Amino acid sequence: MSESITTPNDDISDLVALRRDLHANPELGFEEHRTSAIVQRFLADCGIAVQAGIGGTGVVGTLSTGDGPSIALRADMDALAMPETSPDRPWKSMVPGKMHACGHDGHTAMLLGAARRLSRDRSFAGTVHFVFQPAEEGRGGAQAMVDDGLFERFAIDRFYGLHNMPGLEVGHLAAVAGPQLASSDRWLVTFRGEGTHGGKPHLGRDPLAAAGQFLSSLQTIVSRRVDPVEPAVVSACALSAGDFDALNVIPDDVRVGGTARAYSYAVRDQIEDEIGRIARGIAAANGIECDYVYMRQMPPVINERDATMRATAAARTALGKDKVATEFPPSTAGDDFAVFALRVPGAYVWLGNGPAQDGALHHNTRYDFNDDAIEPGIRFWTELVRQELRTR
Ligand SMILES: [Zn+2]
Ligand SMILES: [Zn+2]
Repeated sequence: MSESITTPNDDISDLVALRRDLHANPELGFEEHRTSAIVQRFLADCGIAVQAGIGGTGVVGTLSTGDGPSIALRADMDALAMPETSPDRPWKSMVPGKMHACGHDGHTAMLLGAARRLSRDRSFAGTVHFVFQPAEEGRGGAQAMVDDGLFERFAIDRFYGLHNMPGLEVGHLAAVAGPQLASSDRWLVTFRGEGTHGGKPHLGRDPLAAAGQFLSSLQTIVSRRVDPVEPAVVSACALSAGDFDALNVIPDDVRVGGTARAYSYAVRDQIEDEIGRIARGIAAANGIECDYVYMRQMPPVINERDATMRATAAARTALGKDKVATEFPPSTAGDDFAVFALRVPGAYVWLGNGPAQDGALHHNTRYDFNDDAIEPGIRFWTELVRQELRTR
């Protein structure tokens, strides 16, 4: 069980040590066995009910104090497959080729700190689920937890997520309604013609000519089809056909692939339709076949208005009115918190990590979570729970 009750600010130093220990021992998505064990032990020591192994290494801690709403708070636990190059950081990664370059070590420490503080002062009515998800960095950890019955095993009325943000001052927070992070999908088109002699193109069906028309027409999706006030990106990023050792041969096939991003579900659907429509139309005009595959990877993170207002109110109480921004530029990165926010109303906020040290931003080999952000992060989480689960 936990040690004796202390005043709220007395419990930070061990969390800083824990955060640095996680930083020194990074684990990639679905391999967070050590981190998951630390999280489970910490929660259990606080007297919090623990369910582990949800979606692989995922953990849910549940603290319930009678009747009331039920909310979920998310921290991600995974690191990235990249080397850490900081020369003199005592808590530098001890694992070659792996590092916490996105600050998920800080997210885990902050949510544990909030869980401990709430376990010591249970002055709220309802249930809070502390969700520690695996594999946020493009490996599908949120989806794995959902597929493993997260929403069937736990009643959740609203879901909240938090991410550290370099460039935003420590002790500050941004909570913005609407789109926060873009969807991120892949697409692949294969034009199937009929190869022939390069000097006798009329005897075959040239897929390269079709691919050229396709590449230029692709640009009209964003410029002519998507509403001009809606951000969207359609990029062709790979092209493969033919052989530079056989420049007198028109090949049978051409493959074109790329990425697509949007900030709304409707624009995402539209882009998926339009790429296929253009590919099929151009194939038909050239008398060839085409295959089209659109691979949905990450939905956009879109903050629900009411949940955002609740997060904003809690942040203002916890950090001060002048420390909370309600406008902040959206990012074209992605976060699979979106998978949770598709199921129930949710909000995803940015917590200040202070100035970018040496210009190091997220996913930089010198990035580090700022330990001074732990206390403000805990204050936000605990105040959000108190306001959401207010005793009547
Ligand atoms: Zn990241
Ligand atoms: Zn991240």
